[in-house]
Amino acid sequence: MTIYNFSAGPAVLPKAVLEIAQSEMLDYKNSGMSVMELSHRSSLFEEIIQAAESLLRELMAIPDNYKVLFLQGGASLQFSMVPLNLAQGKKALYVSTGSWSKKAISAAKALDNVEVEVIASSEDKNFTYIPELPETVDQNAAYVHITTNNTIEGTAFAKIPNFGKVPVVADMSSNILANDYKVEDFGVIYAGAQKNIGPAGLTVVIIREDLLNQEAVFAPMLDYALQAKNDSLYNTPPTYAIYIAKLVFEWVKAQGGVAGITEKDQQKAQLLYDTIEKSKLFTSPVRKDSRSITNIPFVTGDDALDKAFNQAALAEGFENLKGHRSVGGMRASLYNAFPTEGVEALVAFMAKFEKENGGN
Ligand SMILES: *Cc1c(COP(=O)(O)O)cnc(C)c1O
Repeated sequence: MTIYNFSAGPAVLPKAVLEIAQSEMLDYKNSGMSVMELSHRSSLFEEIIQAAESLLRELMAIPDNYKVLFLQGGASLQFSMVPLNLAQGKKALYVSTGSWSKKAISAAKALDNVEVEVIASSEDKNFTYIPELPETVDQNAAYVHITTNNTIEGTAFAKIPNFGKVPVVADMSSNILANDYKVEDFGVIYAGAQKNIGPAGLTVVIIREDLLNQEAVFAPMLDYALQAKNDSLYNTPPTYAIYIAKLVFEWVKAQGGVAGITEKDQQKAQLLYDTIEKSKLFTSPVRKDSRSITNIPFVTGDDALDKAFNQAALAEGFENLKGHRSVGGMRASLYNAFPTEGVEALVAFMAKFEKENGGN
């Protein structure tokens, strides 16, 4: 049976990448060692981390005045690192669009000398849309934080706001490399790797140099400027995850780069949204103008029927389709590495289920 993995994260990786990793597992480039066994100071690993950075710079057209950092601690540690480094003694503005933004907001609130203000929220309707943002914000604020793609709720920012000299900081964990966002529109971008980049354990941070902290923060590992000065090698980085990320970046490049992959992602999403639109059984809980192309929740409106669908889907090899517990129903995460055939198989299965369950 073919398995299609709809997991929201850790998520499906390109098979071609796993095959290369398999072939190089025991002996990396005639070193007689696995990548996992290489010193992070060795020239072989240096080549890997440098290639990973330059590929990411090429794929996202990252300008020279931005640093790329390969860190640990997940996107969740960035919830604290961002305010710690950027907002000491200042105001930090947040847009609340889902469970992850709420966590980012509470992490910032936990810091003593950061003043947190939520400037827009869609919590009134269970985060089923991207809220209208104010046209202007306090120009002395440290940043405006947004979550470009809301993994759990299935919404995404179609357009990145501009607040003059106040930089936009983005949690891009679930749609980095799946959207042609312009890096120049952001002061900081961060993403946990386990959705579109590689294995869990690696976090990518892209930060405009003038936003690097001037003063050291209390813990060296949490200090952007120190990490940047050491080219992400202040301590042992997650070497194997960086190696897999490099292979994924090569794979994205071979798919036509971000433009090529985004086009494919849009087609995959369109196929599923068209099916939901035509269906008399399934509906999308998300407002049309706010829909994500990477995480697509859908429901029947009947918990028992959702459960029956999820059970039947599992038996057919559709893994991890169950919706997040806060939303219920189903959620298909169609990240870059998710194959089109998997979406075609899913929509065929949905049509069959609908026929058998009175949707006609
Ligand atoms: C998955 C996810 C996170 C959490 O990432 P961790 O790496 O587990 O900390 C944060 N934000 C968004 C948008 C996510 O999708």
